[in-house]
Amino acid sequence: MQTHASNRTIAEKDVDSVLHPYTNLKRHPEVGPLVITRGQGVRVYDEAGRDYIEGLAGLWCTSLGWGEERLVEAAARQMRQLPFYHLFSHKTHDVGVELCARLLAMAPVPMSKVFLAGSGSEANDTAIKLIHYRANALGTPDKKKIIAREKAYHGVTVATASLTGLVNNQRSFDLPIPGVLRAACPHHYRFAKDGESEEDFSTRLAGELEAMILAEGPDTVAAFFAEPVMGAGGVIVPPAGYFPKIQAVLDRYDVLLVVDEVICGFGRTGKMFGTETFGIRPDMMTLAKGLSSGYAPISALMVNERVYGPVAEESGRIGVFGHGYTYGGHPVSAAVALETLNIYAERDILAQVAEVGPVLQDGLRALRGHPLVGEARGVGLIGAVELVADKANRAPFPPELAVGARVVAKAQAKGVILRAMGDAVAFAPPLVISKADIAEMLRRFGLALDEAHGELGRG
Ligand code: PMP
Repeated sequence: MQTHASNRTIAEKDVDSVLHPYTNLKRHPEVGPLVITRGQGVRVYDEAGRDYIEGLAGLWCTSLGWGEERLVEAAARQMRQLPFYHLFSHKTHDVGVELCARLLAMAPVPMSKVFLAGSGSEANDTAIKLIHYRANALGTPDKKKIIAREKAYHGVTVATASLTGLVNNQRSFDLPIPGVLRAACPHHYRFAKDGESEEDFSTRLAGELEAMILAEGPDTVAAFFAEPVMGAGGVIVPPAGYFPKIQAVLDRYDVLLVVDEVICGFGRTGKMFGTETFGIRPDMMTLAKGLSSGYAPISALMVNERVYGPVAEESGRIGVFGHGYTYGGHPVSAAVALETLNIYAERDILAQVAEVGPVLQDGLRALRGHPLVGEARGVGLIGAVELVADKANRAPFPPELAVGARVVAKAQAKGVILRAMGDAVAFAPPLVISKADIAEMLRRFGLALDEAHGELGRG
């Protein structure tokens, strides 16, 4: 029985009513929620008025920080003008069209068309469906297997969680679905052999990929999914030479490359797209998060002619391309996205990342001197430190110590919100962060590290 007393706190009502994503539901009543009430710039504030630097831009998305009035106005204007319309069955609206045209103009490689959806998962799910549809269109119905990597993150729908290479997204959900192949994670620090250079490691992974495609049969393998920098898997920056070598293998066997730019897109890695930072030639690209600076739910899938051509043919044959979401290309979200892209251009967001990115990267690398930090890695305004039990042999802590989670909890108490993936702690602050706020974020994090170090009996 729920009570309806009006004097109950938000925290109490939360425990009674919310099924929380990415949470230990059993422990939630005891841990209790952190109630965030407002944000300004790179900071959010809790009920008690305490400030937190948002070191992960929420969920890697609020690139312009909080309180950007122009986005508020863009949403309000569109709400008044046309709060809802869709793109189904030959209908359209100006903001949806303008956004697709704008994205095509920004695309780092030639792209043909843009499909709008509501989330990163939906954009990637659509890419998977297009792979199937295209294979049927081309009369190669057996060429549908999709390769994704260990530690990949592509979403949480049934199909995208199957591509995601993280145990908690599959365990107990009866995933993955069939037809998903798993390639190695390109994390040099963790998975390179003794003395193996980055180039040699990349060469080995490309060789392993080729062997897998040959073993499966190239006529059965349709596509390879990759984030330029793997985000939720622990901020893994590809080793030197990785993407060109992988791309050469994919080209050899007519395997499409889908680049998931959901985190990397719109300046995060220092160029507009991770595709440019790492020299990738995708056939499809998915975008979300920074597309609207997180202010409205929206995502996009860009496809090249190699994908669009057969898909269009097939829809002509069948009579309809039977796919679309009610909120795909929602006009309010599209208007907010367009204004976000205007702001990125006017304020030269790439120049901003070029200016402050090195402060984050140098600061993270300076933490290598800390006894808990085994590796510091990153590019642009995304990075991570990996906490290890023994720096000499890179031995990890026993998982049950939950060292990463412990450090992140301490950091939160000191006023910086970060995210642990195992014992990697990720940083991806709003792109508008100042040098002073990066320094303050790292100072607060350093205090948390020292405290954890003391508690682990090594201080
Ligand atoms: N791809 C990547 C690289 C992501 O980081 C995420 C979300 N963190 C997704 C896809 C899924 O996006 P969404 O949560 O909007 O479905």
